[in-house]
Amino acid sequence: MNHQELAELLFPHIHKTRDDYDRIYPPRALKEGAMVTRLGPSPTGFIHLGNLYGAFVDERLATQSGGIFYLRIEDTDDKRQVEGAVEVIINSLRFFDIQFTEGATLEGSVGDYGPYYQSQRAEIYQCYVKELVAKGLAYPCFLTEEEITAIREQQELTKENPGIYGKWAANRNLSPEQAAQWIEQGKPYVIRLKSQGKADASPEDVTMIQVEDGIRGTLEMPENIQDVVILKANGIPTYHFAHVVDDYLMRTTHVVRGAEWLSSLPVHIELFRLLEFPIPVYCHTAQLMKLDDSGNKRKLSKRLDPELSLDYYRNEGYHPKAVREYLLTVLNSNFEEWRIANPDLPMEEFPFSIEKMSSSGALFDLNKLQDISKDVLLRIPASELVDFMKGWSAEFRPEILSLFEGREDYLARILDLGRSGDKPRKDLINASQIFQFIRYFYEDYFQIEDPAPDNVTTPDQIHILEAYLATYDHQDDQSVWFDKIRAIAEESGYAAKPKDYKKNPDLYKGHVGDVSTVIRIAVMGRSQSPDVWEIQQILGEETTRGRIRSRLDWLKS
Ligand code: GLU
Repeated sequence: MNHQELAELLFPHIHKTRDDYDRIYPPRALKEGAMVTRLGPSPTGFIHLGNLYGAFVDERLATQSGGIFYLRIEDTDDKRQVEGAVEVIINSLRFFDIQFTEGATLEGSVGDYGPYYQSQRAEIYQCYVKELVAKGLAYPCFLTEEEITAIREQQELTKENPGIYGKWAANRNLSPEQAAQWIEQGKPYVIRLKSQGKADASPEDVTMIQVEDGIRGTLEMPENIQDVVILKANGIPTYHFAHVVDDYLMRTTHVVRGAEWLSSLPVHIELFRLLEFPIPVYCHTAQLMKLDDSGNKRKLSKRLDPELSLDYYRNEGYHPKAVREYLLTVLNSNFEEWRIANPDLPMEEFPFSIEKMSSSGALFDLNKLQDISKDVLLRIPASELVDFMKGWSAEFRPEILSLFEGREDYLARILDLGRSGDKPRKDLINASQIFQFIRYFYEDYFQIEDPAPDNVTTPDQIHILEAYLATYDHQDDQSVWFDKIRAIAEESGYAAKPKDYKKNPDLYKGHVGDVSTVIRIAVMGRSQSPDVWEIQQILGEETTRGRIRSRLDWLKS
């Protein structure tokens, strides 16, 4: 029996050949330089910032070059699968405006290079495994769990590299007859790569391979010597094998993936070479890091850092544009400079490049995200923010949706408060913070939050508010209104101008700022807020007077 016959025995049902698949999945007709990228998430139900980070790179590369960005579901590990996970992936990415041109979509698969679920591609993978077996480049391995554990223990004892390779790969030189006999006896097996690397090379003699990484430049690493599993006992391939076949047949030009895959890159390179497929440009992105409380950089962790989950950003109500813009600042160091030079251009016009990506750790910083968010929200018209607030509350805070529905103009005026002029206010960050920031505009959420200034006695507060109410005219313009406050200050023993108070603090009880604060607290419940006059104009006369009256009632009680 020869290898060819062994391959037939293992895969009698596989009739297609590589030529057939080359015909079914021909090279894509795209213009020169167009990039084909893909996201290959495993449907585990957890979609995280790393997925978005990679997807954003994929999407930028494909979109900028007029190429294709497709979604391939890597569901070869059935133990980790979760119902509905594909919907979660698509919806979460869609929320951040990441759209796939091809692949698995909510409406079914789109495109000519499918199926886009790896679990539906078993026969395709097996065709190539069959070919490798026929060439003596892969073999059935009958090692049991116990035997593999014993090998690992022995390797630990003698401090040798772990794995099934060289002398440890007991079945790599099994005769096809012996293999056939065990198969016929029903002995369970997996298919392993018969690595062509030199397993017994002395350290000085190790063969190095060079790989051009799109982000990291030339990588030099020892060649692979491991006889990795390529097909599991259930006929489903491992990630190593599946992605190599898929990225070839789906004509991927750039494989953007996390740095955790760097260590298995030599395996992948060997597989590409043995299968005689052209190697795509691998782009290994940096690890996502954060500064911990003591200022040390560490990897973002699922257990410790809620901000690793994309749900976190949606729950908090970060606007997708803010998150996208933030991602760009982390991804390309020259983006911030570009943004300063082009404050009004859509960020999609920034020429994103993989060469400008850092390979040494991408630092995520929520404070920075918040700063960027403030700038981004300033560029979004209030009417659009109103829709965003409604969408967010409908999903995450349904109990407050009714505050906004039907009163869109009211919310738009609130959001626009202080946003015009040369020095616009920049205090809107995300939907949940916005709601906290503006909730005093809504009766059910209005409450007195801050104490009055220490230097204003209760009788003075009562006097100030009574005088304010008596002279209040909702039609007053801002300067008439403020002159009245100055007058109240003066006749109550407070300086009409802060600088007068600073010059002669002994002459006054305080200054006009303290008087305004008393009013501010009565109307807004807070000692800090945007312009009081503008707020009163939005609240309306009745509410303004009503709030002052109830504050007076409370102060008198
Ligand atoms: N299925 C792999 C993962 O979820 C994808 C790696 C890749 O993009 O090649 O980590």
